[in-house]
Amino acid sequence: MKLKKKIPLIDQHNKYGMWGNKFGGNFVPETLKKPINDLEILFNKLRNDKKFIQERDDYFKNWIGSPTRFVPLNNLNNHIRGAQIWTKIVSDANGGAHKIYNATVHCLLAKKAGKKFIVGDTGAGYAGKMLSMAAKKFGLKCKIFMGAKDIKRQQPNVKAMKKNGAEVIPVYTGSQTLIDAVSECMRYWVSNCDTTHMCVGSTVGPNIFVKICGWSTSQISRELKKQILEEFGKIPKKLKLYNCVGGGSSSFGFWNEFMDFEKKQVEFIGVEAGGPKKSKRHAAPLTYGSKVGVLHGAMQYVVQNKEGQIEETESISAGLDYSGVSPLHCFLKDTKRARYTAASDEDALKAYKLITKFESLRPSLEPSHAFSVAIKEAKKFDRETIIIVNSCGDAHKDKNILKAKLGYKYAQFN
Ligand SMILES: *Cc1c(COP(=O)(O)O)cnc(C)c1O
Repeated sequence: MKLKKKIPLIDQHNKYGMWGNKFGGNFVPETLKKPINDLEILFNKLRNDKKFIQERDDYFKNWIGSPTRFVPLNNLNNHIRGAQIWTKIVSDANGGAHKIYNATVHCLLAKKAGKKFIVGDTGAGYAGKMLSMAAKKFGLKCKIFMGAKDIKRQQPNVKAMKKNGAEVIPVYTGSQTLIDAVSECMRYWVSNCDTTHMCVGSTVGPNIFVKICGWSTSQISRELKKQILEEFGKIPKKLKLYNCVGGGSSSFGFWNEFMDFEKKQVEFIGVEAGGPKKSKRHAAPLTYGSKVGVLHGAMQYVVQNKEGQIEETESISAGLDYSGVSPLHCFLKDTKRARYTAASDEDALKAYKLITKFESLRPSLEPSHAFSVAIKEAKKFDRETIIIVNSCGDAHKDKNILKAKLGYKYAQFN
């Protein structure tokens, strides 16, 4: 299994849509083949269309607010006295996280396909919230499928989706969570694909959805590369890029433009959710050696029990609480281009506390996982080493958890 140079990673799959002949693919019912095929044709045409790229970039700049900031964390660095930690504040983006890039591109594709409706699934609700935001911007009617159990525990996001004019459809089958919402959403899409476009919220799902999402979030590393060159005049000799990994869309987007560098020069570190220290449960299939299985139409490492049943995960951060992981990351793990590790709930909270003590930055619990590992490792490296952490979400959404776990002082936002 080998990583090729000069070919985008999203295109390094075989004719079955699999990376390394092993991960990804299209494990979907026969009825989904036609709409998927149509979407592949549309995307392959538009990604080479200069006018479309210009339109995309216009929305990225004038609606999402790209480029997001790239800044050093000097106070924190003076305290740590190791490698220099910098961050790209991707949470500056409209909506407060990177999911808006994928949602925007899907809405653009829907418009180009002449569709009036867009559907998507959501677990914790952020993918749904971002899609409803983008749908409103583009004048598309939006339906979000969400497990009935998730609707109960994620009320603020449900309210936000409705406020954006989306219809939230409760799913009562199975465990009444994300897995069931995805199945229901796909079923709906099959019967309505003439009028309706479907969006998958991360670099997961059937092959084409992995590709579209990865293509969209790669904006993050396109910006970062420019910003690094402006700041340092070259790509540093020792550069380390830390990113949390749930489905894997922010991390893939953060790394993509640096894929062809040797890992001795540009190292990728993916940080999964290790869950509470006392619990055996986690959401870290790459770190803890989970077996390969099929989830959401694709082969991937997935948290499962001995019988191969998908196991429930546990994490303090809703965004990382997912049993599977993108086939792109499975491939990056097997080719050893990226290194994967986990941070516990407690580690993430500790990192959040430390960062907010020294900096005005407030990373949400997902990037706090990445910061935790970056801070620990920074102590072992010299000043020449540049560490960059993707601060992909804002802690405002985690206000209630932060208040419960750390106290009122850590949960005050203007
Ligand atoms: C959804 C989400 C994640 C996890 O998803 P990826 O696809 O791995 O990026 C991480 N951080 C934030 C802030 C999120 O909203």
